[in-house]
Amino acid sequence: MTELPRIPLAGVIGHPIAHSRSPLLHGHWLARYGIKGHYIPMDVSAADLPQALAMLPKLGFVGVNVTIPHKEAVLKLADVVTDRAALIGAANTLIFRADGKIHADNTDGVGFMANLRQLAAHWQAATGPAALFGAGGAARAVIAALIEAGIPEIRIANRTRLRTEVLKRDFGGRLVIYDWSHAGDMLAGAALVINATSLGMTGKPDLRLPLDQLEAGAVATDLVYTPLMTPFLTEAQSRGAHIVDGLGMLLHQGAPGFERWFGQRPQVDDATRSAVLGQ
Ligand code: NAP
Repeated sequence: MTELPRIPLAGVIGHPIAHSRSPLLHGHWLARYGIKGHYIPMDVSAADLPQALAMLPKLGFVGVNVTIPHKEAVLKLADVVTDRAALIGAANTLIFRADGKIHADNTDGVGFMANLRQLAAHWQAATGPAALFGAGGAARAVIAALIEAGIPEIRIANRTRLRTEVLKRDFGGRLVIYDWSHAGDMLAGAALVINATSLGMTGKPDLRLPLDQLEAGAVATDLVYTPLMTPFLTEAQSRGAHIVDGLGMLLHQGAPGFERWFGQRPQVDDATRSAVLGQ
């Protein structure tokens, strides 16, 4: 009997997982390119993570995305970790290689840069300093990507100052720390302003920082994408900034995994945005 070709499976593991938009994104791309494959959300507890990663390749999975709370833990379970994932200290994309090894990567920074390249094409990293609010996992990915792109200076402020000091230790001299109480001062002369805190997200307080020093013409971007128009972006726009919402970062970070698993470089465009927004 001729053996039928195996249908590739991929998915996203996290706990909880119901909120993840990745199944909509990958489902859209699978349908769009007519690929016979499946992308499945999987609720995996921390206790079950090692067993799940051992079993998934045997069940036909070619890889998975990883979300909260497993992004750090998977680094210890992977056989090969990319330099950027090691530097960021977290992975969001796993590839189950044919030789049985688990390859871990972090594509959040790639997604962040690709979103800016698409929606703020005039901005160049070398143009001038960036101002960054927040020092969590997403901020680490943004910093790594901006440094790789050649940014001259990253000004950073976070409610918990200690976390910015850890970032400066890990990423070096291009980081300039500002106190959270003076975060608004970072904006003078900044070509790019980024909210990488969770403030402004539905159910969270707004990011309430004075934006009066924001330069007209600067690019302002928010990693938060629920809602798409955060109060930060609304105010930045009213002050003449060029705004970029956070949805594109989510879409672009998914592209490298999709390409590795399913063999097709996917497009990120209006149709992709609509599919993920459920429109
Ligand atoms: P995280 O590691 O939990 O970090 C949260 C950040 O928000 C920290 O800097 C934290 O400051 C700050 N924060 C939280 N509550 C605050 C408050 N009340 N006042 C001041 N600061 C506060 O989270 P993360 O993974 O970095 O994610 C950050 C945001 O980016 C989330 O909204 C996430 O959904 C979004 N994100 C989007 C994408 C995308 O593709 N668009 C990708 C990754 C993340 P402290 O250090 O003081 O707690």
